[in-house]
Amino acid sequence: MKHSKVKDLLNSTKTNYEVTVKGWVRTFRNNQFIALNDGSTIHNLQCVVDFENTPEETLKRINTGTAVALTGNLVESQGAGQKYEIQVTQLEILGDCDAEKFPMQPKKHSLEFLRENAHLRVRTNAFGAIMRVRSVLAHAVHTYFQERGFVYVNTPIITGADAEGAGEMFQVTSMPLDSLPKTEDGQINYKEDFFGKHTNLTVSGQLEAETYAMALGQVYTFGPTFRAENSNTSRHLAEFWMIEPEVAFNDLTDNMDLAEDFIKFVIQYAVERCADDLKFLEGRLLDEEKQKPQAERSEMTLLEKLNFVLNNDFKRVSYTEAIAILRESTPNKKKKFQYLIEEWGADLQSEHERYLVEKHFKCPVILFDYPAKIKAFYMRLNDNTEPGKETVRAMDILFPGIGEIVGGSQREERYDVLIEKMKAIGIDEEELWWYLDTRRFGSAVHSGFGLGFERLVLFVTGMTNIRDVIPFPRTPQNAEF
Ligand code: ATP
Ligand code: MN
Repeated sequence: MKHSKVKDLLNSTKTNYEVTVKGWVRTFRNNQFIALNDGSTIHNLQCVVDFENTPEETLKRINTGTAVALTGNLVESQGAGQKYEIQVTQLEILGDCDAEKFPMQPKKHSLEFLRENAHLRVRTNAFGAIMRVRSVLAHAVHTYFQERGFVYVNTPIITGADAEGAGEMFQVTSMPLDSLPKTEDGQINYKEDFFGKHTNLTVSGQLEAETYAMALGQVYTFGPTFRAENSNTSRHLAEFWMIEPEVAFNDLTDNMDLAEDFIKFVIQYAVERCADDLKFLEGRLLDEEKQKPQAERSEMTLLEKLNFVLNNDFKRVSYTEAIAILRESTPNKKKKFQYLIEEWGADLQSEHERYLVEKHFKCPVILFDYPAKIKAFYMRLNDNTEPGKETVRAMDILFPGIGEIVGGSQREERYDVLIEKMKAIGIDEEELWWYLDTRRFGSAVHSGFGLGFERLVLFVTGMTNIRDVIPFPRTPQNAEF
């Protein structure tokens, strides 16, 4: 007989019929009550074992973690706490679990311990919930773009263009690292490498996506990106997933509108479909907050935070306005910032971003029109800016508790301006010949952004460390599993 999912049984509209369920024992009480979980929902299904007619040896094998198949009648539960239960008539042990050695005991584990057991942590309520929410968010991403006629583009993971992420890229080679082929002048001879050139893992699919936007109009990527940034923060992974829409004929305002609408859509999508998981994660967050001193506790619960984002416009603020606010801020005057804001042109650190979002505006903020000097070469130079104070049509979206969640811009569509800029910062135009072609053949205004998927999952689940929202995190000194 085909087995049923716990989720479907708990939503059943009828009772008194025979069902089979397969899953893992979460707890086994009084030699009689199995709390069974099969991953379909955060809720367990109570299964009542007929212990008088079950051999002692079988009962002994039912431990936390044991895989079982249970058949019996689905009935209304007599006990408190659950609507339905199964009166088990047939019990099959599918896989034993050594109760002594199983790391996932039914008690509270630290997140650090769970990271060390990333292959088993998904068997806890919290990680089951996080990963289901992550999956629904991924579906939301595709739904949003597909419903609006965007074309999903798979940009390369191995890239020959390293203009963007110089210094923080992982090299890809098939050459033996202990005996690298050399050229006559002693340099590494990449001509002998697999691709006949120096290659890296991509840090972004944007440049390639731009070429596609110039034909398909609206495109998006959703794929893995790699950054060898040696910053051990709770917001950075060496391997993360990025969503990058790119749209022909969109200017910066259109780009901000798209990003805000998109973020609200995917959050709404998760709120509607993950009520049970989010409720659980909200409780988890409340427990965690209780450990903190009163002043540091969040004023809002998880669902209040999500609804706040859904119901409020993101505040749009120019870089110049932001600098003025920061310069006059108490932490700047009292020298509490690690990096004090003195001059227009300063790069914003996460302490500044978080001040703006969490203390000053108390809502998501879109910062735009940044100094050209601190932003990438492909961003559209603003017309009419003072020499030395040039700005570009960049926008970053900052979220409470997260910092930067989106980085984007209107792209420089003018060939001459783009070439000048590349020359000024020493980017080889030969290497980006194909990118420059988009500006030579039917160039047009276009814009896009990158949203770090894990930062979105962090926000929606209320988790605080990015290592806890991806199944197997890759960070400096850590690539286990
Ligand atoms: P940050 O200043 O936080 O390092 P960034 O300016 O390097 O971000 P972008 O290059 O604009 O980020 O990348 C677009 C988005 O990708 C960011 O807004 C963020 O959501 C996400 N992102 C960037 N780096 C990482 C990382 N190492 N791990 C996870 N997400 C990241
Ligand atoms: Mn970065």
